[in-house]
Amino acid sequence: MNYQETFSSIHSVLSTLDNTGQTAQYIPELAAVNPQKFGVSLYTIKGELYNFGNAQEKFSIQSIVKVLSLAMAYSRQGAQIWERVGVEPSGTPFNSLVQLEYEQGIPRNPFINAGAIVVSDILVSILQNPEKDFLEFIHEIIGDKSIQYNSSIAESEKSCAYRNLALVHLMKSFGNIENDIDRVMDFYFNMCSICMTTDEVAKVFSMLANKGISPITNTEILSSSSSKRINAIMQTCGFYDESGEFAYRVGLPGKSGVGGGIVAVHPGQYSIAVWSPKLNAKGNSLIGSKFLEAFTTAINASIF
Ligand code: GLN
Repeated sequence: MNYQETFSSIHSVLSTLDNTGQTAQYIPELAAVNPQKFGVSLYTIKGELYNFGNAQEKFSIQSIVKVLSLAMAYSRQGAQIWERVGVEPSGTPFNSLVQLEYEQGIPRNPFINAGAIVVSDILVSILQNPEKDFLEFIHEIIGDKSIQYNSSIAESEKSCAYRNLALVHLMKSFGNIENDIDRVMDFYFNMCSICMTTDEVAKVFSMLANKGISPITNTEILSSSSSKRINAIMQTCGFYDESGEFAYRVGLPGKSGVGGGIVAVHPGQYSIAVWSPKLNAKGNSLIGSKFLEAFTTAINASIF
C-alpha cells in the first residue's frame, strides 16, 4: 500500500477547506504556533515509515502524553490504579470540574485532565526521579534519547493554569491526591510539554498496535492484556465529549492533544500521527480529525 500518495491526495482536498479552528488560546506558547503547519506519519509494526508534510518538526504533544503516563503507571501498579480513576467516558470537556464534585474526587477516566493529574500523582509516589524515569520510559520504547521536555511550554502553561489548579485542589480535598500539589502539577505540566515529531509519535505508539511490544526496540512495554485495555480506553475516552464522533468517523482508538496532534492506532497493523495546530470547539485538531476520517475511508480499513 502506498500511503504517501494517499496522504498527499487527502491533504490537497483538505487544503481547499476553510480551517476555521483556533490554536489553543489558554496556553500562550501554543497560541503562537504557526497554524499552517501540517504533518502526518504512519509507522507499521513491521517497521515501515510513511510520512508527508512537516513530519520531522517537533510540536507539543500535550494530552497525547496521557496515554504514555497511563501506560507507565499501569505497567507498574496494575489494576490498583482503578481505585483512584475510572474507565468511563465523561461526556464533558477535558478540563471540566462538574462531575468531580458529584463523584467525590474520582475522575471518570485517565484522559481527562483530572484523571491524568491523578496518574501524575501516582507516578510521583512510585518513581524515584519522576521526570527522568518517565523520559527513560519513552526512550525505551523508541530507542532514541532525543525526546525531551520543553520548559518554556511547561512554564507558559503553569502561568495560566487556573482550571487545572482548581481540579487538583478539589481532588486533594477528597483525599485523591497524595503528594504536594505543586510537585504533582510541575510533573503534569512537564509531561504535557514534551515535544515530538509526527514520525516520533507514530513510532512510540506503534507498541499499542503490537500488543505492547515496541517494534523498534523489541522490548515488552506492556502486557498484551494491558495494551488491549489502553486501546479500549482510547477508543471510548480519547477525545473527551467527541469520543463517540471520532469512533464513528475514524473507527480507530486514538488520542488528541491541544498542541494539535492526534494519534490513532490500528491494532495488528500501524499507528498514525497527524499534526495541524488549529483546534475545533472540543479542543481536538480540526484538520487532523478530518484527515484521519478521510484516511480510513480511503483505505477502507478500520477496526470495525
Ligand atoms: N496541558 C493541557 C491542559 O492541561 C492538556 C490538555 C489537552 O491537550 N487536551 O489543559
